[in-house]
Parts: sequence; C-alpha cells; structure tokens
Amino acid sequence: MSDIAVLGAGPAGLMAALKARENGHEVTVFEASSQVGGMAASLEVAGQRVDLGSHRLHPATDPSIMSLIKSLLGDDLQTRERNGRIRLKNKWIGFPLRTGDMVKNLPLRFSAAVAFDTLVKPLRPKSGSNFDAEIRRRLGPTVAREFYGPYATKLYGVAPSSLTTELSDRRVSAGGPAQIIKNALRAAKPEGRIFYYPRRGYGQISESLADAAISHGVKIQLNRPVDRITVSGGSVEIASGDTLLNTGNVLSSIPLPILARALSPSPPEEVVSAINQQRTRGMLIAHLVVPQSQYTSFDAHYFPGLDLATARLSEAKNYRTGDDPPDLTVLCAELPCWVDDELWGASPETIGQMVEEDLTRAGLPKANHTHVEVRRLPSVYPVYEQATSSARTVIDNWLRHPDRVLSLGRQGLGVPDNLHHVLSMGSQAASTITSIGSIDAQAWSRSLTDFSAHVVQD
Ligand SMILES: Cc1cc2nc3c(=O)[nH]c(=O)nc-3n(C[C@H](O)[C@H](O)[C@H](O)COP(=O)(O)OP(=O)(O)OC[C@H]3O[C@@H](n4cnc5c(N)ncnc54)[C@H](O)[C@@H]3O)c2cc1C
Repeated sequence: MSDIAVLGAGPAGLMAALKARENGHEVTVFEASSQVGGMAASLEVAGQRVDLGSHRLHPATDPSIMSLIKSLLGDDLQTRERNGRIRLKNKWIGFPLRTGDMVKNLPLRFSAAVAFDTLVKPLRPKSGSNFDAEIRRRLGPTVAREFYGPYATKLYGVAPSSLTTELSDRRVSAGGPAQIIKNALRAAKPEGRIFYYPRRGYGQISESLADAAISHGVKIQLNRPVDRITVSGGSVEIASGDTLLNTGNVLSSIPLPILARALSPSPPEEVVSAINQQRTRGMLIAHLVVPQSQYTSFDAHYFPGLDLATARLSEAKNYRTGDDPPDLTVLCAELPCWVDDELWGASPETIGQMVEEDLTRAGLPKANHTHVEVRRLPSVYPVYEQATSSARTVIDNWLRHPDRVLSLGRQGLGVPDNLHHVLSMGSQAASTITSIGSIDAQAWSRSLTDFSAHVVQD
C-alpha cells in the first residue's frame, strides 16, 4: 500500500481520505481553512449553527452513501418535510411544487399560458441548442420566460441563451410538463417532499466524516493551503509554506485553477488556457441575526426574479429540531455575484440593508436584524457558456489522464454537483489507487463518464 495526500477537507476530500485509509493507504489531508466541510460546512453565528446557504440531504442519495451517513450520524440525522415557497409573479407558490397549491395560487393567465404551451409541445423541436432553447422546448416559453430564464440569469450572470444544454441537463430534471405534474402530485403528500438534515447543521456530515477518518488513522492538517505540487518520477512533493510532504499520489479536491497553478511541471499550455477561460460565479452569504424566535415558518424562500439581488433566503432553525437559542433566529441570504463586482466589495452593513429591502419588496415581514455577517464564496457555480464549451472538452480530456495527481469534487471537476455526488466521487477516486500505488486512469475515466450524468437537486 502507498502514501496518499488528499487536498481539501470538503466532503469530497474527506470521503476520499476515509476510503483510501480503509483500503490500506497512509493518508494525510491538507486543508487551507481552519475547519472541515468546505462549502458544506456549518459555523456559528450569534450562538446558532448555520450553513453557507440552504443545504439539504436529498432522498436521491445513493443507498450506500446514505447508509454511511446514517451510521455516522445516528439519530442526529433527522427526516424533515420540505416547506419552501417560490415568489412567482408576485405570488407565493409552495416549493417543491404541489398540485393543489399550484391550482389555488398560480395566476390564472399564467396557468392558461402553461396549459397552452403543454398542448403545443409536440410541435416544438426535438432538441434545443442552448439552455434557454432547451427549457422552452421541454417546458414551454411561459415557464422559461417567467422562471428558469430570470433565475438562470441571476445565478450565472449571463443570458440563458449563452449557456449550454449541458447545464440545463444537469440542473433541470423535468423533461416536460407531465413530469412537473407527476412530481407535484408526489410532493402533494408529505412523504413525497422529505429531506434529511443533521441536528447540528449540514456541516455535521463533514465533521462526522472527519472524525471517522481520524479514528481510522488519517492525519488532517488544517490551516495548510497547498501552494506547490511537484511531480517527479515515482513521487510527488506537496508544499504548504515551509511544510513539505513526499507522497505517492495526490487526490485533489481544491479548485482546478489553484491546482493548475500549483503543479510543477505545469499542465500543457492549452489546458492552462482552457482552465483560465472557464468562469465561475461567486456568491455572498449574508447571515442576519433577527431578535425574535422565528421569522417565518418556511425553511426557504426562492426569488427567481431579477428585481431582487437575493436568490434564496433560508432560516436554519426551520431545517431541524435542535438546541438553537430560543430568543433569536438567523436568516441566510444568498446573493450571486462576480468576484470583484460592486456587490462583492459592498460592506456587510450595505448588504444587510439590501437584504432587508429585498424582503420588503417581496412582501415579507421586516427582519429588523441586529447583526450581520457576510462570507464571500468565490466559485460557487461553474458557468457553462457556449463560448467556452471547447475549452471544457480540453479540460475533460486532461482530467481523464491523471499522472499521480487526480482531481475530483465540485471545484476540482468544475461541476454544480450536490454533496451526495461528491461523496461518490471521493469513494471512487480512492478506489482508483491500486495496491501497488498507481492510479488506474481507465477506471477513473469511466467514473468521470458516470459523473457526467449527475443531476443536481435543489
Ligand atoms: C449555496 C449552496 C447551496 C448548496 N445546497 C446544497 C444542497 O442543498 N444539498 C447538497 O447536497 N449540496 C448542496 N450544495 C453543494 C455542496 O456544498 C457541495 O457539493 C460540496 O460542498 C462540494 O464539496 P467538495 O469537497 O467537492 O468541495 P468544497 O466544499 O468546495 O471543498 C473544497 C475544500 O478545499 C479547500 N481548499 C481550497 N484551496 C485549497 C488549497 N490550496 N489547499 C488546501 N485546501 C484547499 C477549501 O478550503 C475547501 O475546504 C450547495 C452549495 C452551495 C454553495
């Protein structure tokens, strides 16, 4: 068995580390930040555990991954009923969509237009050439214009017609109105809209994975950003400042551009250029402390409209039954933006005020927050633009031929995947390291093909 370095202690890296250790390898994890969990971490604001945006564990999770999480969390993994709302044409519609609620609350003109679009679906083309065209083809122009179009513009910062169908395939599971109605009929029953959530926040999944890895003998080094990875002959030297480690192979879940910059020798010039062309959308996560025990009874509010900067608002307390402080609640607003745009650089006070104004405009109660904390996530959504699709092919080919350094995870592969997807990636990445300490590139290439069929759950 061999030595392996895992870069990044988000869920993908932690799962890779645990499984590689179980397979008999010596494993050291390097994590840049002071805690584990990456984008799926939890932290404390005003004495309450909160997440970096709304996170839930979806029932679509692969049974083997689900049983591992259940075994790690025990009774702390709670089964909850979703209770969200979407703001559509100034009305609130329950989310996930439910048939009765749609009939009652959707504006009549909107429902009539959707019904007409459904009737004429057979007349539409059999495939769309971009995100917008594909959504129009599948769900009709009304749903595309009123919901997916603005929401995509808000999340990705570009016109939906400039995005690829790969993104619509990965982000929108419904193939047509019939599927939406089928899902809405299922969600009409409480058992059709469940999700799983840990008592101490979503980060508890990563924390328990880290504990399990440590108890199996994995070394996790926090506050250790990797800045140089030198591949020479049969080994790799990892450098984080003055700390050096010689290892056999590297499983990296850090953002691909950071990996490419750290690698020596560098990837081929065309790969570096392709990676630099790929844009990712950032996000501000604003936590507002509200001096009342509950703000609303809903877990999340979705705002697809471009009239508000906030894309989603969640209330951590409503995701679980836990030991949260009784006299306050913490709201979490997600504001997509580009790194270094005006919003990115705004002060926490300005952002808190902006969220308050969004809530008023949406017709929600005033939050009257007493404190706000803002965290900046630089690369949340990979933007699959048509203009850079050939660059993604170049990157994909390169990722399929790892030489001692294999890249995985949401930012390592540049994908919009959920936690349950990246846990599968971690497990499969670990199993590509053979007993003689080499990477089985063919097995990894097959895994990458499987991962391309992942469909994101919201
Ligand atoms: C707003 C939002 C909502 C989401 N909602 C859901 C949901 O409801 N359900 C769900 O399942 N998933 C959800 N996700 C997705 C989920 O958060 C991700 O799938 C998951 O966190 C990806 O894990 P990862 O390990 O691949 O990457 P990350 O979580 O990004 O972890 C990468 C790690 O690498 C570290 N790192 C970076 N650079 C270096 C370096 N140079 N050296 C060492 N370490 C480094 C980082 O600090 C980080 O810890 C959501 C994500 C967001 C942003």
